[in-house]
Amino acid sequence: MKYSWLEVFKAGFSGQKQWPAAWPEVSPKAAYDVVIVGGGGHGLATAYYLARDFPGTRVAVLEKGWIGGGNTGRNTTIVRSNYLWDEATNLYEHSMKLWEGLSKDLNFNVMFSQRGVYNLGHTLQDMRDIERRVNANMLNGVDAEVVSVAELKERIPILETGKQVRYPVMGASCQPRAGVARHDAVAWGFARAAAKHGVDIIQNCEVQALDIEAGRMKGLQTSRGYFKAERVGCVTAGHSSILAAMAGIRLPVTSHPLQAFVSEPMKPVLHTVVMSNAVHGYVSQSDKGDLVIGAGLDPYSGYSQRGSPHVIDHCASAMIELFPIFSRVRLNRQWGGIVDVCPDACPIISPIPQVKGLYFNCGWGTGGFKATPGSGHVFAHTIGQDQPHPLAAPFHINRFVTGALIDEHGAAAVAH
Ligand SMILES: Cc1cc2nc3c(=O)[nH]c(=O)nc-3n(C[C@H](O)[C@H](O)[C@H](O)COP(=O)(O)OP(=O)(O)OC[C@H]3O[C@@H](n4cnc5c(N)ncnc54)[C@H](O)[C@@H]3O)c2cc1C
Repeated sequence: MKYSWLEVFKAGFSGQKQWPAAWPEVSPKAAYDVVIVGGGGHGLATAYYLARDFPGTRVAVLEKGWIGGGNTGRNTTIVRSNYLWDEATNLYEHSMKLWEGLSKDLNFNVMFSQRGVYNLGHTLQDMRDIERRVNANMLNGVDAEVVSVAELKERIPILETGKQVRYPVMGASCQPRAGVARHDAVAWGFARAAAKHGVDIIQNCEVQALDIEAGRMKGLQTSRGYFKAERVGCVTAGHSSILAAMAGIRLPVTSHPLQAFVSEPMKPVLHTVVMSNAVHGYVSQSDKGDLVIGAGLDPYSGYSQRGSPHVIDHCASAMIELFPIFSRVRLNRQWGGIVDVCPDACPIISPIPQVKGLYFNCGWGTGGFKATPGSGHVFAHTIGQDQPHPLAAPFHINRFVTGALIDEHGAAAVAH
């Protein structure tokens, strides 16, 4: 959709009343071929690829609030693909390649900015782990380099690289193609493109019960009535266990608050993304100029979207130690999301063996935003063909029975 300057001008002075809706408000149908529960980035991406790649499939997305109001609109937008194990790297790199063409594909600017992501090392062991991961990345065709401390200082002059701090920086890994994307643009872009392919996006519609008969999906009871659907994909991040309980299933995930905060806006001072597992924090600067900062999980399980102050306190201290120039910057806002974490820090993208027609995509923990297009793409194919996409196969829920876990704690950890 293109607007002339005159249309933009008129829309601005009409209180935006003439602005055309990005996707139409629809009257829900009584039956769909596939219902996606959860209107976050992953759910909307799944719906888009389903409708695009399986034409004629009647698809709806049911969202209990507003689209992108969950973790999608709350995350710190880091995108990278430098995981350790082949299975994870292949999945995240598939996503990275989709990111690289996403604005064009969706005809919507998702503001994907490949400004590089640095993971700092503070000990000899950190540096050995960094080298191991960089080697693994290079073997998988993923761009990665080890950066010396002198080179780091050249590239990021405001980073403290002196020896007087508690955790002196010894070097870093860098993925140059990694970066950030605008999170709500991602939700809107997928929603708009999905609606163009005929997907019904139904907001304020909470799924309250799953109708299962003789081990087969029949439909869903929602706050907006009953929908028939023989295939249902649950993409509800922090609420996955609640949806699973509706099917009488217990998922191997725990839900935790994860916080982030932003500073007041400033002139551009940081042109890349810097993270440190050892001091537990990461930072980037948004296009608006605010510093976007985050840390690790709040350790307790819960469904609050707030979190405890000590996590922020600890993270802010670490950031100031790494970037003393930030010491007088004021914080503007703090918030939390609810993330669901699997024991091996990898997602579940899987049909549910006990119920024909039920699929789950969850367990992305602190780091699923970066996977949004890839996750949607492989999940759409898993549902559309009723068998795992080859890139999704290692993330089948059966791995918790067979023991074929993919331990990505080292590459996932605090680092998103
Ligand atoms: C503070 C924070 C920082 C993060 N930073 C990063 C980062 O930098 N990089 C990165 O890769 N990842 C990051 N993440 C993780 C990332 O945000 C998530 O992994 C990802 O957004 C999950 O997307 P989703 O679409 O599955 O979930 P969500 O966007 O949470 O969507 C799930 C949707 O399901 C809906 N829902 C739940 N129950 C029901 C129901 N019963 N009926 C209907 N709808 C329902 C919810 O309302 C929600 O909108 C961060 C997360 C947080 C909280």
